[in-house]
Amino acid sequence: MKQRATLIAVCLIAVPLRPQEHSPSPGPSANSQTFNEVSLGERLAREYEQQVGLGSTPELDGISRYINTVGSKVASVLPSGLQYRFVFDPNPDFKSAFALPGGWIIVGGGLLALTQTEDELANALAHEIEHVDLGQVSRRVGELAKHKEIEKLEVKEFFPGYTKEEELACDLNGQKLAAKAGYSPAGMLTLLETFKALSKGAPEEASDNHPTLSERIAQAEPLSKASPQSQKPLRIP
Ligand SMILES: [Zn+2]
Repeated sequence: MKQRATLIAVCLIAVPLRPQEHSPSPGPSANSQTFNEVSLGERLAREYEQQVGLGSTPELDGISRYINTVGSKVASVLPSGLQYRFVFDPNPDFKSAFALPGGWIIVGGGLLALTQTEDELANALAHEIEHVDLGQVSRRVGELAKHKEIEKLEVKEFFPGYTKEEELACDLNGQKLAAKAGYSPAGMLTLLETFKALSKGAPEEASDNHPTLSERIAQAEPLSKASPQSQKPLRIP
């Protein structure tokens, strides 16, 4: 019985196709897969909130609503129709974000502090959305499920650790997605330049596993330069 239950769970989550590759209205199997990943992502997001002791204050709730407004606007132009949800962790040392299954995204306070415009925030969120939309998070769930029961998966198993090609694909597709949602794709470039400036000229080692900031900046330049440069100010409440 146990083996059968595990098999069913694996079948339900292992659909690594991009949502765009489905017909405009996904069939029942795609819906159940999405539903399962949404539940998994929600459980992991709640566990993350508990682990880091996220509380609720009017200020934090306001910031969280703002991030969700920007992220939902970006995600709304995707054909998948998946609802993305963004959890804000105010930790100033957490200068990035990561994606959980089913469209749950954890966003660090350090990243928000570094973003200077709403367009930069939109491009950063779009990068994380692409990890989900390109099927990378689903593929990871499928890989993990070969060795572990879905119920036992942990948040740390979804910390970044994607390939160089996957990261570059999320930058480029994220830039296009942000632009489609009405944001300047230059936000991706200026945010990456902020990270580069923070590294204070420390030498970058080229690697087959991770893109360097210089590689990411070079990739972001053409779309940025071909679009209007004006960016909207952040509207953190
Ligand atoms: Zn990434």
